[in-house]
Amino acid sequence: MHVLIIGGSDAGISAGLRAHELDPSAEVTIALADDYPNYSVCGIPYYISGETPDWRTLAHRTEFGGINVLRRHTARVIDPVAHTVGLATDEGAKTVRYDQLVVATGANPVRPDLPGHELEGVFLLRSMDDAFAVHAYLERQPRTKAVLVGAGYIGLEMADALTARGVEVTLLSRSATVLPTVDAELGHLVAAELRRHHVRVCAGVTATRIERVQTGPDSPLSVTDSAGAVHAADLVILAVGVRPNREIAATAGARIGINGAIVVTPAMRTTLPDVLAAGDCVETLHRLFASPRYISLGTIAHKQGRVAGENAVRKDSERLFAGTVGSQSLKVFNLAIARTGVSDFEAREAGFDPLTVQTEANDHKVYYPGAVPLQLRVTGDRATGRLLGAQIVGPKQAEISKRVDVFAAALFRALTIEELNDLDLSYTPPFSSPWDPVQIAAQAWTRARRAQGL
Ligand SMILES: Cc1cc2nc3c(=O)[nH]c(=O)nc-3n(C[C@H](O)[C@H](O)[C@H](O)COP(=O)(O)OP(=O)(O)OC[C@H]3O[C@@H](n4cnc5c(N)ncnc54)[C@H](O)[C@@H]3O)c2cc1C
Repeated sequence: MHVLIIGGSDAGISAGLRAHELDPSAEVTIALADDYPNYSVCGIPYYISGETPDWRTLAHRTEFGGINVLRRHTARVIDPVAHTVGLATDEGAKTVRYDQLVVATGANPVRPDLPGHELEGVFLLRSMDDAFAVHAYLERQPRTKAVLVGAGYIGLEMADALTARGVEVTLLSRSATVLPTVDAELGHLVAAELRRHHVRVCAGVTATRIERVQTGPDSPLSVTDSAGAVHAADLVILAVGVRPNREIAATAGARIGINGAIVVTPAMRTTLPDVLAAGDCVETLHRLFASPRYISLGTIAHKQGRVAGENAVRKDSERLFAGTVGSQSLKVFNLAIARTGVSDFEAREAGFDPLTVQTEANDHKVYYPGAVPLQLRVTGDRATGRLLGAQIVGPKQAEISKRVDVFAAALFRALTIEELNDLDLSYTPPFSSPWDPVQIAAQAWTRARRAQGL
């Protein structure tokens, strides 16, 4: 039995490790296009900021005992009939046979089609090589000004990282505020935190043009936005989203679905025989919608990869990916922001009749020093009281991402908001209150619903 995996990041390595763990007699090969198997690209902002100065420490692991890891091996073609993959390597072309194939080719950053996007000093940020390019550019000579195009989580993490390096940052956001994955009420709080740290936030605009102000490779750039403002920049980072890297699977005949991602069953099987796929290249089952969405996150890639690796070697029943509830967290300067489930807007779009209630609660008892207020937004289905989503913003020391995980676990089990009050959450005054902020928010939601006569 030979399990061949294309891609050596979160999904591919998880698949390989699981396949090897469950069937050590299977031959497992991971072929990856770059030199960095199992690096945490989520850590790139902290390498750029200098908080994680040695990029080598971004490796989740460096030993892959029993697994054959082929670096700089780029898959060019899958022949699903012959069960072979054609690989381009530094030594020339190779053809490798497989019994089970896992495609884990991830995603590519979107390069917006705007004049000047190819100029030196304009970067995308996805891979370790991208990180090295930005890092080297910053090291080569002091850069004082950056323009970040895109105010999603990568744009915001980079605003924080570059500010930490002493770079003046301008952030261009297409939406009315920043971080459109949370409701605007919380997005405004995040924008205020950015401004408090001297980031110039320009909301409701897109970049229309990048130009070199003088000739010469290291000379400054300028970015013009859709409102006609011109922003000076020594470097520009384009962070406007990703697209699934599905080409080789699509060319081999695999069915393609939402956002161009590979269609998979809950067992992570593609429509091609003996070909599984996982991670940012595939559609993801969303538990709340009970249908697939395209969500690119490392948390999901790890879980899907593990399922794909398991099913690649399992001969009896198959394991199924349980689906995502869309949990995500990030740090922006001294704020933590976390969400799970759906926002009010997303719930409405999906056909629910949502009620969203925002509550302020202290993270722990105020009599113990250091208590800080948190903003919690809970979204539930008005008619049934079922929890649909939660968002929390507050100071980064307040365990926000773990608090959102309580909501995530409740969503996973389809609890009602009232049932959150039954959860036996831990308490001691320096960490929480007898009713945790999660439950205080749940109670505020049920009161608001009752006030509507429901
Ligand atoms: C700056 C940044 C911060 C992030 N922060 C977070 C976070 O905080 N939390 C979170 O959950 N997610 C985060 N993410 C997203 C997360 O990193 C991705 O969802 C995750 O890396 C996806 O893993 P993957 O294995 O599917 O694909 P990728 O990481 O994209 O890896 C694809 C792999 O496939 C290989 N490959 C591609 N094409 C070929 C080919 N033809 N032949 C051979 N090999 C090929 C590549 O070399 C690579 O090894 C972040 C991403 C970035 C860029």
